[in-house]
Amino acid sequence: MVDDSRLLAQGMEECLKKLGLKTSSLTDSTKVIDFVKKNKPRFILTDIMMPIVDGFALCNMIKAENNLKDIRVAMISSKIFDTDRERAYRAGAEAFIEKADSLDLQAKRVKELFNEPVQVRFWGTRGSVPVPGRATIKYGGNTPCVEVRPGGDSIIIFDAGTGIRVLGDDLTKKKAKIRAHIFFSHFHWDHIQGLPFFGPAYLQDNHIYFYGYEDNEARLGKIISDQMESTYYPVPITRFGAKIHFKPIVGEKDYQIENFVISTICLNHPGNTLGYMLRHRTKLIAYLSDNEVAHHKKEEVNEYNNKIVNFAKGADLLIVDAQYNANQYKTKRGWGHSNYLDILEIGLSAKVKRIALFHHDPARTDDDMDEIVSECRAIIKDRGSETDCFGAQEGMVVTL
Ligand SMILES: [Zn+2]
Ligand SMILES: [Zn+2]
Repeated sequence: MVDDSRLLAQGMEECLKKLGLKTSSLTDSTKVIDFVKKNKPRFILTDIMMPIVDGFALCNMIKAENNLKDIRVAMISSKIFDTDRERAYRAGAEAFIEKADSLDLQAKRVKELFNEPVQVRFWGTRGSVPVPGRATIKYGGNTPCVEVRPGGDSIIIFDAGTGIRVLGDDLTKKKAKIRAHIFFSHFHWDHIQGLPFFGPAYLQDNHIYFYGYEDNEARLGKIISDQMESTYYPVPITRFGAKIHFKPIVGEKDYQIENFVISTICLNHPGNTLGYMLRHRTKLIAYLSDNEVAHHKKEEVNEYNNKIVNFAKGADLLIVDAQYNANQYKTKRGWGHSNYLDILEIGLSAKVKRIALFHHDPARTDDDMDEIVSECRAIIKDRGSETDCFGAQEGMVVTL
């Protein structure tokens, strides 16, 4: 706890200790770096306005040191301005806590933030085309959209299939300002079609960041905007009220964004398609939709499959294209999707904790899916593996 007011610093220290958190307080922000190097805390809570080294500068200094940058930093302030928030995120801070009337209440907020799990929510799980109807109630009919909450006010979204409409409604109901980072795997219809119906994009004060495979901002902007041209849709993208940022991504790299890290991999699918690994709070979430792997056997050397295994290695959650069964795959080889049995092998080789079968074939009914999941689980049991495998269902929340 860093605050230039001794009263507040020590008061918070006491309250946090009462909640069972081992805490130290410092009033001189110039001494924090030395203290942190010696004591390696997991979490730093800092005031913003402080003499000599303010909260932003302190955060910058921590994030600039290679062996300190994993320490989570939260800012505490009585007034939270948008510009402060921007600056804090740019400096690498993870979250804000508004100063509460009582220190006890404030400490409770800190503890909640400290323990907050990473939540993954499926808003759309279907591949190719939406399939509403009685046969798809359980696993869902909306096309790909997955939300990850990294804490604070930012939201990570993978793909903008029709599922993103429902996510948008959920967000606008909560009425909070949002910063949404939307990562497109690629721009096939089923991954962009919900975007024009994403409510928060029309609201001022929101920030929406679009990431996708392209080599410059203008081209990425055009790709995302074109589906809203008047021939296809009545409202052009210029009517989005939120602040829109286009972030082109090329090739396989690591990106530090706000309080999380995203790594990319190029997938085997028609056109440029990206897979993502999200690293946040020691959790690893891999999103590999729309991807074809060849038949995978441990003893066989297949360069591409091995690349996928290495990328997904140790993930807490692997969300994967499992569109086809063995029969379908026979006639659809080269279409850019995988046989679920092959992708299961990849997940097992990568020793991931959970496999979410995803991008379900439009023809797949809930009963089919249940059978597939049972089959996969039987194979896993047979191997004596600890990995869990489930079929991603619309509305499902996975807590990591
Ligand atoms: Zn797709
Ligand atoms: Zn596709």
